[in-house]
Amino acid sequence: MIDGFALAAKLETDRSLSLAEYEALLRQRSEALAASLRERAVRVRQAVYGNTVFTRGLIEISSYCKNNCYYCGIRRDNRSAERYRLSPKEILDCCREGWDLGFRTFVLQGGEDPYFNDALLCGMLRQIKREFPACAVTLSLGERSRDSYQKLFDAGADRYLLRHETADKAHYGQLHPETMSWDHRMQCLTTLKEIGYQVGCGFMVGSPGQTERELAKDLKFVERFRPAMCGIGPFIPHKDTPFGAEPGGSVELSCYLLSILRLIQPNLLLPATTALGTLDPLGREKGIQSGANVVMPNLSPVSVRKKYALYDNKICTGEESAQCRGCLAQRMAAIGYELVTDRGDPKTI
Ligand code: SAH
Repeated sequence: MIDGFALAAKLETDRSLSLAEYEALLRQRSEALAASLRERAVRVRQAVYGNTVFTRGLIEISSYCKNNCYYCGIRRDNRSAERYRLSPKEILDCCREGWDLGFRTFVLQGGEDPYFNDALLCGMLRQIKREFPACAVTLSLGERSRDSYQKLFDAGADRYLLRHETADKAHYGQLHPETMSWDHRMQCLTTLKEIGYQVGCGFMVGSPGQTERELAKDLKFVERFRPAMCGIGPFIPHKDTPFGAEPGGSVELSCYLLSILRLIQPNLLLPATTALGTLDPLGREKGIQSGANVVMPNLSPVSVRKKYALYDNKICTGEESAQCRGCLAQRMAAIGYELVTDRGDPKTI
């Protein structure tokens, strides 16, 4: 097996490893190797983005979902989940507050809720873009038809976040009911790219059934797909799901993967996710110090935050939006980074 430190050096130079090499790099994970990857990743990130950290305001528009993903707290069959949906006016108000706080990207995320049909979403997108022409809007609303993705793009959506969840088809089958299709999700990602969106993929770290082999496939997929963004974070069990008693993922492995992803694609937009901050009070700082360059504070109305519970013990559910932004700005400053007021588009390199 090739030495992990040699693989880290090769990855920084070539921005590519074979599937077997990614797997070897993952299997040899140690504190020393993590430090080596981290150092390389921070240097590479510094060269592209300096010490700036981009920020996106996350607006959780609906906790209704027609899907039944085994890991997710808002899955259809979770009768204990409290359901809500924001009205277009409430969503626009979140954007207004966010704009004043310095957000230039709004992420509209939710369960797959048919209430948010194309007409409603397109009307809302046009309103947001009319009022804030300088902002970027990211949608994260799951799988839709090509026609729908096209209409939303034409109405002003700039980006679409659709985590692939796992690049291994059999593993996808372990995480989702048979009614859901890995091929379809992957097709959606291709379609979104063809339409012209800045596309984000991503996966959970430590999901049930995941080994170094599946993770190596995720890394190879990202290397080939070349997304604008990649959202990763630890899997955290939710008690009212079939995976409620499974062990969760770790901050350490998540950070290790963030470093590798930065080396694969130096200009990749890589968030240090809320899930990292949930497992470890300094999780998001650790993510940034491992090569991430984006944070996504919550902009949702405080009244709904507890209800958008994808996993247990989610943080920032009591804070006002201004507090979330201020808190993250301070946290970033404390480790030598600057939260900027910027759309946060990927740098072309
Ligand atoms: N319905 C949209 C948005 C899903 S929520 C969609 O299908 O894309 C965003 C992400 O949260 C999911 O893609 C998943 O990777 C992550 N997630 C869901 N449940 C989680 C859990 N229990 N722990 C950690 N992450 C989770």
